Amino acid sequence: MNIDFPNSEPVFPISTAAKLLNISVHTLRMYEKEGLIIPKKTEGNQRAYSQKDLERVACIRKAINEHKISINGIKTIYSLIPCWNIIGCSSEDRVNCQAYIGHSQPCWSYKHPNTTCEHRDCNQCSVYKETFNCGQVKDLIKNIAKD
Ligand code: SF4
Repeated sequence: MNIDFPNSEPVFPISTAAKLLNISVHTLRMYEKEGLIIPKKTEGNQRAYSQKDLERVACIRKAINEHKISINGIKTIYSLIPCWNIIGCSSEDRVNCQAYIGHSQPCWSYKHPNTTCEHRDCNQCSVYKETFNCGQVKDLIKNIAKD
């Protein structure tokens, strides 16, 4: 795939996104169902993908096809992103939050009742937005560990 990825404007409908990624619409929907991606929904409830979303999916495809990581493996890797550190939630929030307790899904795939994240738009959350590139996940953790 040869696309420039400069922005996060959700401009591609699902059929265009699938075509650009050379995958099926079904596969894109499946990644969404698995909680790997969160496309923006338009007012008409249509999915819209940004170039960063496409890069995220390209990374997921590379992890699956080249590095032989399963979808569950990718979800586990995403679950290690320390959202609690990035967002700075309270210890009370953490006690009740599946994203903090669990290790099998990205934080953005959970509902977060009674926490600071309860009404957060995960598509716009830095935890999600800053990890669109696979390599960034480790860099993010390294930067946090430096503090
Ligand atoms: S998802 Fe849970 S652990 Fe993560 S920042 Fe939000 S409340 Fe804290």
